[in-house]
Amino acid sequence: MSGPFVIVGGDAAGMSAASKAKRDDPDRDVLVFEKGEWVSYGACGLPYYVKGDVETLEDLVSVTPEAFVEERGIDLRTNHEVTAIDRERRTVTVEGPDGAFDQEYADLLIATGAHAVVPPFDGMDLDGVFTLHDMNEAAAIRGYLGLDAPSASLPETGYGEAAAEYAESEQPESVAVIGGGYVGIEMAEAFAAHGLDVHLFEMLPHTLQPFGAAAATVVEDHLREQGVDLHLDTAVDGMVGDGHVEAIAAGDLTVPVDLALVGVGVAPNTELAEAAGIELGPTGAIATDEYGRTNDEHVFAAGDDAEMTHVVTGEPDHVPLALTANRAGRAIGATVAGDPTPVGEIAGTAAVKAFDLEVARTGVVDEEAAREAGFDPVSVTITAQSRAHYYPGDEEIQVTLLGDRESERVLGASMVGREGVAKRIDTVATALYAGMTVHQLSYLDLAYAPPFSPVWDPVLTAGKVLD
Ligand code: FAD
Repeated sequence: MSGPFVIVGGDAAGMSAASKAKRDDPDRDVLVFEKGEWVSYGACGLPYYVKGDVETLEDLVSVTPEAFVEERGIDLRTNHEVTAIDRERRTVTVEGPDGAFDQEYADLLIATGAHAVVPPFDGMDLDGVFTLHDMNEAAAIRGYLGLDAPSASLPETGYGEAAAEYAESEQPESVAVIGGGYVGIEMAEAFAAHGLDVHLFEMLPHTLQPFGAAAATVVEDHLREQGVDLHLDTAVDGMVGDGHVEAIAAGDLTVPVDLALVGVGVAPNTELAEAAGIELGPTGAIATDEYGRTNDEHVFAAGDDAEMTHVVTGEPDHVPLALTANRAGRAIGATVAGDPTPVGEIAGTAAVKAFDLEVARTGVVDEEAAREAGFDPVSVTITAQSRAHYYPGDEEIQVTLLGDRESERVLGASMVGREGVAKRIDTVATALYAGMTVHQLSYLDLAYAPPFSPVWDPVLTAGKVLD
């Protein structure tokens, strides 16, 4: 029997690896150390919890700690932080409620995820200024909005006791969302649902940068229609206030607000790995091979802390998304259990709900990024219908499709519309994995019935126009 498989981090990547390894090799000791109290939670659902579509934080948990231990036989320890890795002795140092101890491993998975970037803004420490990356932060935001009892959730988040006092006496009426990425857009919708005036600040000319300008422009028009005050091309300097946030300062602009959500991206949690001499790649995340192995053959990394290979460019990339973490974790679990399984490549396939719109992307969407990756890109943007033109309720879908002039390969796509977008992008994602040409994409046999699409699906139409 092989020695213990030890996992640092108990969410998507970590618990997928633990479950797969234990299922495939039941005799193996599988230990997971998670520094928080939550495991296997869906951070992706946090904006919908703040909005109120999801009732409790517990609803976001897929498998409880008890089920991992009792039904899956995994030795899961919550409130245990791994503070060091000794690669020579093959041990990790763990700090738990009963003190520190060393745990030996035969194989180790670093699945420590990422953290919200905290920009060097003035006033980041004011009460009422939040980031959103973990469960407790979401609870704190609801507390500050006066939606849940603030005393239960606010003090433990580090936002200050004054915040609880403020939340009890005041009702926030306006919010600044700083950062127009997908978390910012989802949170703009959540805040608007509670009746707040929403100001969204984005330092770039467009929101949703990975989705391309064509899709972002449609989203921005829709955000304005929904009453969001958009400040594009506007770099925030900081927050102003006495104890709690009262305004946002951006150049000559001062916008009074009662709450600020800072969503300017995430950075991989690499400190533990770096301190142990595990190499990082060009993106700053942990470098891994096709099996998720680091520069140490006994140490793997997966999820938001690790690089993956991009299916179109063939280069290392860091796109922190949930399926990427689950998939890589599962593959590493299989490998460790004796069935070498590649972690797969990534296309950065993603979808976002922006009020009444769906917006999605896959592959390389931007011509400049395609040129930088060595392609000679050509693209089209078309508008098609979501259903047969005579079937009630059809909506416009805008598709931008990118191909390479020389190889004629599909490079990527973005889409936006009121329906039929979020899963339609998967057709293009599949074409990327198959290395299809634009011509091949345009001749795929896709499903048709009037309530679901026109005869020529919008993806096929985009392919025909670009071909
Ligand atoms: P994490 O989920 O970050 O888990 C890492 C775990 O490791 C944490 O629980 C942490 O406490 C623990 N840990 C860290 N260091 C240590 C240590 N030293 N010792 C012990 N434990 C440690 N992705 C999508 O694909 N679609 C979406 O719609 C989407 N929406 C999102 C919305 C929000 C608000 C957020 C925050 C994320 C969203 N994501 C989405 C991203 C997705 O949640 C992540 O990609 C996914 O959770 C990554 O899983 P992971 O296991 O790599 O890392």
